[in-house]
Parts: sequence; structure tokens; C-alpha cells
Amino acid sequence: MSAPSAAVEPDIAALADGIEKRPVEKYVGPAKPSLVGLPRAALTEALGALGIPAPQLRMRVQQIWQALYVRGVQNFAEMTTLPKQLRSLLADHFTLARLQIAAEQVSVDGTRKWLLRLPGDLEGRPHEIECVYIPETDRGTLCISSQVGCTLNCSFCHTGTQRLVRNLTAEEIAGQVVLARDRLGDWQAAAPGAEPEKRLVSNVVVMGMGEPLYNFEAVRDGLNVVADGEGLSISKRRITLSTSGVVPNIARVGSELGVMLAVSLHAVTDELRDELVPLNRKYPLRELLDACRNFPGLSNARRITFEYVMLKGVNDSLADARALVRLLKGIPAKINLIPFNPWPGSKYECSDWERIERFSEVVFNAGYASPVRTPRGRDILAACGQLKSETETLSARERLALRAMALTE
Ligand code: SAH
Ligand code: SF4
Repeated sequence: MSAPSAAVEPDIAALADGIEKRPVEKYVGPAKPSLVGLPRAALTEALGALGIPAPQLRMRVQQIWQALYVRGVQNFAEMTTLPKQLRSLLADHFTLARLQIAAEQVSVDGTRKWLLRLPGDLEGRPHEIECVYIPETDRGTLCISSQVGCTLNCSFCHTGTQRLVRNLTAEEIAGQVVLARDRLGDWQAAAPGAEPEKRLVSNVVVMGMGEPLYNFEAVRDGLNVVADGEGLSISKRRITLSTSGVVPNIARVGSELGVMLAVSLHAVTDELRDELVPLNRKYPLRELLDACRNFPGLSNARRITFEYVMLKGVNDSLADARALVRLLKGIPAKINLIPFNPWPGSKYECSDWERIERFSEVVFNAGYASPVRTPRGRDILAACGQLKSETETLSARERLALRAMALTE
């Protein structure tokens, strides 16, 4: 089905510099592809290739779309609005297979993490991603991945240490939402007309594994399936895409996609950001903030969220907080402080709570909403930046150490 894409090619100098890794572009998809997650245009094309006459195509796509994304059907026999003959033709060529769950973990706080196995393997390693569901009182947020691993190497992020990288297809991106609705039994609550707040998955954040703006087309097409008002129907205002700062693609998030933007800032000087987010050497702060200032559709009602990970003794002084406020002057913004989540082998510590509060106060007093993101699912390594699908590489001792660390904090 849709081919994997790299929207902005990593350049050779950046590869040599150790800023980026090159994604694997070839892998073998399933012999009989699934229709789940397929964008409308690709679905129309697939049906046309089966010989469905052009005047019927629109209606058939609509019927299949409804069955897949409103009712959540799992086999063609349940597509009762279609003629029997068409159902069997579809079953001859396609499946309605979901992403395959390799492991499911439930945290003490109700967070769920799914390890998903995708088609393809490299040197015997399966392609795997993680997808995390975070229930809260007023919403349920699904954190989805955009790549297997990540081409970038942020020094505080577990995903960045993973070698293997491949872009997800649009189907695999939308497929994560379908899978969550299945596993949570969310189809009923998500039916048309139901209040968005009643759904278990009411919000989506593209903050799992990978850099979404290095896989722009697939992310755009997958999120358009997620936001489709006649299907999964999660409004674009409830979808947030987080980028580490791929400047050339930032404007496209506003102009071609229209979802909310979050930017992983983490430092107020180029010197420190070069170290924490090495992509900064390619797109430094001035260029990043210019792209934010010019973000299409930016207004007080549509602010950019700036994420700032709290690293003890590294970026958490009150002078940093004041510099942060100065840096963002004039940009309609929210500042999201993220307590650092540790992982085995990480060289940083999380700032003390007292420091996080004082930092947050400075930001708040300057007029910014500054929520501190409560770490969720730390005991199952599901919190921000802890995702790394090669879980088998953790020794039993490392796992125990981590669990203890998470539960005592
Ligand atoms: N690649 C994108 C989106 C995925 S990362 C990006 O970098 O924005 C989602 C968020 O988690 C980012 O803000 C990232 O900086 C943050 N993060 C990564 N590792 C973390 C860690 N160990 N603790 C806390 N936050 C982390
Ligand atoms: Fe990639 Fe984001 Fe992790 Fe950086 S923080 S390595 S961009 S997933």
C-alpha cells in the first residue's frame, strides 16, 4: 500500500556529524494487505483496481469507511451494507488485520502500553513501536509513534539510542488509533453524535517514538484518517504533533494538516541545545523560533506548546526560566514542563520538585500557562522519552532497577 517516505532527506553532512541516522526505506509488507488505516484516496484506488465501476466507487468507499471507523468491524462478513459478492471479492484481496500486539502492559496508574510488531525486520530484529494510552479524569490521550526508533539522537531520550529506524506508513499511524479503540472497547462511546469527552480515546498526541516531521506525508495522511469527521472523528484541535524542530516542515503542520503544534525546546541557548537536541546544530534556535512566529494559523486561541524537560543542574536554574520567557516573547505559547523520566544508562537526573515548582512560578508570573506534566506509566517505561521497542535488550536486573526507581520517586 502507501510507500514509506522521508519528507526531508537527512543530509550527508548531518549523517557524518552524528546528528541523524538514515532510515531503512525497504521492507516487505504483508502479502495480503489490510484495509485498516488506509487513506480515502488509496482506498478508492484499491477498490477501482478490483474493477468496481467508477460511478459506484464513492458510495462503496463511504460504506467501507463507516464500517471500519464508526462500527469498528473486524471481518468482511460484518460489512452488511455491501453486497455479498463484493464482500467476498474484498476478502480475496485484503484483510482487516490490526497491528499485531507483541505485549501489553498496564501501569499502577492505569496507563497502558502496547508493544506493536510491524511487518519487516532488519538483521533478525523485528520492527516494533510503542503506543501508550493515558486515561485522565477529563480526557483519554493516546500517544502514537511516527517511526520505528528515531533518526535523531537527543541525549536525554531513550528512543534516540535505538539504531534501527524506519518510517511508519499512514496505515500504521492511523492503525494505532483503531487498535486502541478495539482494545479499550471504545467503539460504542465513539459513535457519531456521542460527546467527545465520553470517549476513552478523546485526544491524540504524536509524541511516541520518532520524529514526525521526518515522515511528514505519512503522518499527514494518517492523521487525516484519524480526524475524518465521517470516521474516527477526533477533531484536529484534539490532535497535537510534537517536533524536535525540523524547521523546513513546521509551516506545513499548519498549512497542510491543521493540528496543534508542540515544539521540544528544552534549552534557551544554542550551546546547550546543541548538546541536548543535536538537530539544533542544523536548525538553531533563531531559525526555530522564526518558524514558530510565522506558524500558519497561530493565535491566542491556537497557541504553540513549548516542551521543556527538567534536567537537574543542566537547564533548570531560575535564570534559565527568565531567559525562556524572554525568548518566547511575542509568540502565543503554552509552556509544558516535563519532569525528566529516567531510563537505564541515562546520564541525567530529574530536577527536584521544589525547583520545578519555582521554575514554573517564574513562567506563570510572566503570563504563561505552565502545567507540569505528571509522569505517567513510569513503572512500565511508558512515560515521555522512555519508549524503546527493543525491550528485550534490558537485562532482568535493569528492569528491576527501573521499576524500583519509578515506584520510589
Ligand atoms: N520526536 C518528537 C516527538 C517524540 S518525543 C520530539 O522530540 O518532539 C516527545 C517528547 O518527549 C519530546 O518533548 C521529548 O523531548 C520528550 N522526552 C524525550 N525523552 C524524555 C525523557 N527521558 N524524559 C522526559 N521527556 C522526554
Ligand atoms: Fe527522537 Fe524526539 Fe527522542 Fe529526540 S526526543 S531522539 S527527536 S523521539
